Amino acid sequence: MTVLVFLDPAFPAGRIVDAGTPAILATDQGVTRGDGIFESLLAVNGEPRKVGAHLARLAESADTMDLVIPGEDAWLAAMTTAVQTFVAAEAPAEDEFANTNVVLKLIVTRGPEGANKPTAWVQAAALSPALAEQRANGLDVILLDRGYDSTVSRRAPWLLLGAKTLSYAVNMAALRHAQKQGADDVIFTSGDGKVLEGPTSSVLLAHITDDDGAPVKRLITPNLDSGILPGTTQGALFAAAKEAGWELGYGPVEPADLLDADAVWLISSLRLLAPVKSIDGTEIGTPGVRARLTAELGALLATAL
Ligand code: PLP
Repeated sequence: MTVLVFLDPAFPAGRIVDAGTPAILATDQGVTRGDGIFESLLAVNGEPRKVGAHLARLAESADTMDLVIPGEDAWLAAMTTAVQTFVAAEAPAEDEFANTNVVLKLIVTRGPEGANKPTAWVQAAALSPALAEQRANGLDVILLDRGYDSTVSRRAPWLLLGAKTLSYAVNMAALRHAQKQGADDVIFTSGDGKVLEGPTSSVLLAHITDDDGAPVKRLITPNLDSGILPGTTQGALFAAAKEAGWELGYGPVEPADLLDADAVWLISSLRLLAPVKSIDGTEIGTPGVRARLTAELGALLATAL
């Protein structure tokens, strides 16, 4: 089931709307132009995870788009209503929040043409079981050229590359392209040959030995200013890994660095850490190292959320 809670000043806890009935005008610029922003996050046992980081990124995306959005209190109230309504409908047991994973989407569009009034709502829905499978089984990934160079976001901020906009049709097309080729997911590269991100995830790689074979614990992710979305999961994991003695590094990362890594993951709020088994048909690391590092970093991530 899907629960929708619209942010509406007349309803301090949010206005619940039946997801089966039309709730947005056909003239809304979110519909006519894909003009809007969103966040996806997980609520576990009733608690939205990394809520501060997601609201901060929503505010940054809004700023990039010159969009004025509702304040944090309105979002928090609508999220609470959405989670409670979802859980009450799906698991009306006594210990009602136990072991529930709810996917929350926070969405804002520019609203109807000429109205100067953004439309904002929270959606609550179940977590796809496919994501747990990805964590357990790993992913076969292909590299795809995004077509922009890694410095374009600085030269052309109107491309909105670091913002989480509603215009995800390109990202979904890349995923379909991968699936037609028998792959599970995609890592985008830039026109100048740098590793960027997945269509719905950040890229992370680990080294457990250095060039001389001496043991190290090093995590690397592409530069955050290369036109990618700064991942809240990558941010939380880096903070926890630093405490646990990992060295942290930011790109530039090139495809050869991925192939040379002991492990590579696609990470995001919903799928958490999904290990990459192969890139363009080349195996990354070994199954044993992949599984051990995924368990170690997964445990760190669990403490950080
Ligand atoms: N990069 C892109 C393009 C994404 O869509 C996402 C998440 O949806 C991420 C990275 C990972 O972000 P987060 O860890 O905040 O979920």
